[in-house]
Amino acid sequence: MRDSSSTLIFEKSKKGRDGVSLPPSECPNIDISTKINQNLLRKKSLDLPAVSEPEVVRHYTNLSAKNHHIDKGFYPLGSCTMKYNPKINDFIASFDGFKNIHPLQNPESAQGCLELMFELEIILNKITGMHSSTVQPSAGSQGEYAGILVMSKYHEVKNNEKKTIIIPESAHGTNPASVVLGGYEPIKVGTDSRGRVDISDLKSKVDKYTAGMMLTQPNTLGLFEDHIEEISGIIHDVDGLMYMDGANLNALLGIAKPSVMGFDITHINLHKTFSTPHGGGGPGAGPICVVEKLSNFLPNPRIVKNNGKFEFSFKNKDSIGRLHSYYGNFLVLVRAYSYILSLGDEGLEKMSRVAILNANYLKKKLQETYDVPYSNGSMHEFVISALKQKNRGVKALDIAKSLLDYNYHSPTIYFPINVAESIMIEPTESESIDTLDAFADAMIEIDKDIDRNPDKILDAPTTTPVRRLNETKANREIDVNYFLSVDEK
Ligand SMILES: *Cc1c(COP(=O)(O)O)cnc(C)c1O
Repeated sequence: MRDSSSTLIFEKSKKGRDGVSLPPSECPNIDISTKINQNLLRKKSLDLPAVSEPEVVRHYTNLSAKNHHIDKGFYPLGSCTMKYNPKINDFIASFDGFKNIHPLQNPESAQGCLELMFELEIILNKITGMHSSTVQPSAGSQGEYAGILVMSKYHEVKNNEKKTIIIPESAHGTNPASVVLGGYEPIKVGTDSRGRVDISDLKSKVDKYTAGMMLTQPNTLGLFEDHIEEISGIIHDVDGLMYMDGANLNALLGIAKPSVMGFDITHINLHKTFSTPHGGGGPGAGPICVVEKLSNFLPNPRIVKNNGKFEFSFKNKDSIGRLHSYYGNFLVLVRAYSYILSLGDEGLEKMSRVAILNANYLKKKLQETYDVPYSNGSMHEFVISALKQKNRGVKALDIAKSLLDYNYHSPTIYFPINVAESIMIEPTESESIDTLDAFADAMIEIDKDIDRNPDKILDAPTTTPVRRLNETKANREIDVNYFLSVDEK
């Protein structure tokens, strides 16, 4: 028998129990089948759990405490920027005027919301040094896709015959996926001994068919691509465009601008850099910002200001079109806006500098115990290799599982793929030195346990609600029919 905190809410159901009690209705009863087509109506009533209000509250409160989250503990998941999200952002996003708008509402009656999006675009232009932005894409990956479509439109309008887009081997998986979806062939470029783009390899892969290059800056090893101007020059020489994967923007605010480095397009993961609780699939927002010559290709509608009024404009005639219905994940935009304005120019720069400092401090503490293959010039995150540990019997995966028993979320593992047994650590700016010290101690303790008590690591986790799960079963054996047939069950 499982304890009551791990039973399903359906198992807690007792026929006749109610969460709410309403006074008797004074409206006459109408037979719904006289109003709605018979075959659209459910045959049986929904199988909803019958539970009281306190039971519902306790059920979900207990569930929320089983999950690891940033309000509960340290979450050094590399590349994901799991920083603490100030509650003021949620408070502002919960204002009625923001959360109760209807997507089909007349823009006249939602002027404040349009103004917020309009201003956020201007702020993002300033941060990136770009000419125009759209806040429409609802994730970094959708921003990437939009960016590739913009590239494609640019080449189409110029009658350029282009086929390929260059991507470093360390890139996030969404990069090649976006390139393929956008109709191009991804070409891999290697890493040099310093962990940066291998320039001679790049030169050998660029030709007149190169549509552009996608580059993460700083790259997924946490290193600044210090030859970025030369790289941009090589791509621009064949009329290719430079796309910056801006997922690591947390390292650059107030320090370096994508436009100055030669990038033509960049996306920003607002949920990462500008603080919206994320993870488990969302929500997010991935605005893209572009240089002037690409601004006519941005998705419609654009938000424009006409005679002091804000409105949606469909006048961009070379636009790649709409990315989805309505406008985007609006409340994520509100949180980003609130976060940016509460920090201001100086605060944002300080944020990036502290993120870099925290990462370098932690790297230094771990460097004696773990290999750091590319460690020269780390920014806001770093990648260690557990190859030494693997040779003693414990893989990166085991170390990640063991950290759960110390109440930490695991770092990112086995990404980037160009480091064997990689463990990617991003502490973010919002952690204290005590947290960083305690985490380093845990990592060092785990290493010592490889010789003292290896079973402790190999059996981990032992303190979590579930032990080691099959990592792929749910994806490989997804039963779509189950959801389709729920009605009949
Ligand atoms: C997170 C991330 C992405 C994808 O962004 P989503 O918002 O998750 O779609 C792309 N590239 C890098 C380097 C990332 O870290």
